[in-house]
Amino acid sequence: MSATETKSMTKRETGTVVLEATGLKRHYPVARGLLRAPAMVKALDGASFTVKAGQTLAVVGESGCGKSTLARLVSLIEEPTEGELVIDGIDTGNLGEHGKRELRCTVQMVFQNPYGSLNPRKKVGDILEEPLIVNTSLPAAERRARVAEVMAKVGLRPDHYARYPHMFSGGQRQRIAIARALMLNPSIVVADEPVSALDISIQAQVLNLMMDLQDELGVAYLFISHDLGVVRHIATDVMVMYLGKPVESGPKDVIFEAPLHPYTQALMAATPQVEAEHRAERKPLTGELPSPLNPPPGCTFHKRCPIAQPRCSAEVPQLRPLAGRHVACHFAEQNLS
Ligand code: SF4
Repeated sequence: MSATETKSMTKRETGTVVLEATGLKRHYPVARGLLRAPAMVKALDGASFTVKAGQTLAVVGESGCGKSTLARLVSLIEEPTEGELVIDGIDTGNLGEHGKRELRCTVQMVFQNPYGSLNPRKKVGDILEEPLIVNTSLPAAERRARVAEVMAKVGLRPDHYARYPHMFSGGQRQRIAIARALMLNPSIVVADEPVSALDISIQAQVLNLMMDLQDELGVAYLFISHDLGVVRHIATDVMVMYLGKPVESGPKDVIFEAPLHPYTQALMAATPQVEAEHRAERKPLTGELPSPLNPPPGCTFHKRCPIAQPRCSAEVPQLRPLAGRHVACHFAEQNLS
């Protein structure tokens, strides 16, 4: 019997570190013709963070900031170019293929599109049973009992077992995807924009379900989102990414109360349901995200930054502790009120 089978659907002790990344990088070579050496795209360029059982780290930023690359590394779909990734106390750098396969049961994913992520030819019960068939040797009766248990937890009725995905609404399909992610009782669920394809009215239901399940099971979420309104609802901690690097990270309340990095401030200014009182003072984001093939020197945000100074284009700002969070800006003190 594998480790997965021995875990029952009981609550994990909250506060235990289940995910720890140190200096995580993922660089991709990009061909530039026959005579030139390949260029390097630094899709992720040094992310460090921890996530504890029962907590949610929200990773935010525009598309192209490195958040989906980070999701693929944490899900063990890709390997980092550099850095350490420890999942459930296991250093993934030292694992062979067998070890990785086992550990993949501990990290499950929920994708953005509940329409595309479920096999339309399979009944819901079969979709949910499949991870147990592939990864455990549980007998059929126990598999079906586990499916029934998880379906009840996500608010699906027993008669939904024999229905096909097309017979459900978008919100219900995302409940099925969440149920599938929970089948192996993972420590971590990587949720990549899990509500952005849903109507606003349904988004809150799915987020509340995820939070209830977290309370009940102690599962940790790595929650990837571009939507600060959603992040404010669900996060415990926030990591704001820009062009492959974290630029501000810390407890959600600290960051939403008083963001210090001009990029975080600009994201918040662009989000109507966030910080209405300060929005008038803050400058919304202008300009395009630079090409990751040719990032600007110094602070990669300097061409879009409303408070940039000459030092910004010459010197890379390091992530440093300031006022209860970490921030990578030479002049973050200016934003302390
Ligand atoms: Fe703006 Fe300079 Fe801070 Fe970068 S280091 S965010 S350019 S002020």
